[in-house]
Amino acid sequence: MINQDRLLRTFLDLVRIDNPSREEAAIAAHVRGLLEAIGLTVEEDGMHNLLARVPGQGEPLLLNAHMDSVTPCRGVRPVVADGFVRSSGDTVLGADDLAGVAAIIEGARTTIERGAPHRAAEILFTVQEEIGLYGAAGFDTSTLRAREGFTLDSSGDFGGITLGAPSQDSLYILVRGRVAGRALAAMSLGRIDHETTANIGRIKGGEATNIVPPQAELWGEARSHDPEKLVDQVKAMVAALEEAARDFGTSVRIEVTHKYDAYRLTEDTPIVRRAAEVLQGMGATPRFEISGGGSDVNIFAQRGLSIANLSVGYRAIHSTDEHIAVADLNHAAELVARLLEL
Ligand SMILES: [Zn+2]
Repeated sequence: MINQDRLLRTFLDLVRIDNPSREEAAIAAHVRGLLEAIGLTVEEDGMHNLLARVPGQGEPLLLNAHMDSVTPCRGVRPVVADGFVRSSGDTVLGADDLAGVAAIIEGARTTIERGAPHRAAEILFTVQEEIGLYGAAGFDTSTLRAREGFTLDSSGDFGGITLGAPSQDSLYILVRGRVAGRALAAMSLGRIDHETTANIGRIKGGEATNIVPPQAELWGEARSHDPEKLVDQVKAMVAALEEAARDFGTSVRIEVTHKYDAYRLTEDTPIVRRAAEVLQGMGATPRFEISGGGSDVNIFAQRGLSIANLSVGYRAIHSTDEHIAVADLNHAAELVARLLEL
């Protein structure tokens, strides 16, 4: 069904383009060219989000992936060996999420070339996903006619269907060094319970080992599948900081930003059922999963769209060991083409 050589070529060309978040102009220009080459009209917004409409029957289905990758993603030299695509070891591969991009393009192209009646689609390729879903958040979703669809941006074995993801707050803290130490010691961090995590991931401050740093900056986050638990966890972190500051007779600056809301689908949500049926038709076993992190789907869900995040088959993402089986890349493109069948 899928032109496997063409798909692999498309994917390898994509990963060779530098695509760190906020620097997507080049990758967007290339992707736009690919979409226009299959006859689609493409709209590009000021952030370089791309929207292409695929004419067809019925209410359009949204097909989404993101074009940016985490660093190091400059100068990727992909290696194809033993049925897998990897980087040369000094960069990520960028399969997250350029394998999703390539699969959607090839799936749509296959559908258009076959000429049979098919469902209408809107292809949305976003930017700045990896640094906080900013592309999806900045995209004017009111221009979409689709109310439901699929994101191809989930790792792990092919066949995964994500049923939910947590909400997330991020924290920025500016305090005296002493206060930071005491507050951190008092805070509950790491895995709080089965649906809540919290983390202070970055600390900056200090000049020398024998001097208490006058100021420290901290960056952290908290996530929970339960919005009330997220509020409680962030309150506890703020309280620990304020209490420590009070003890030292000083003040603390805390900025809490709500990044996105949690969402939940069920096995009976129409698009989830559709994905499961199509996967079974391909001989794959659908797996229902709950994600520990956010994706563009969190933003779409907040805006009333019903979107299921499907796994593309890439593994060890956000590492220089990131890889994908060529067979899974083909599966992902076939999945897209089958989702567009009536
Ligand atoms: Zn991703």
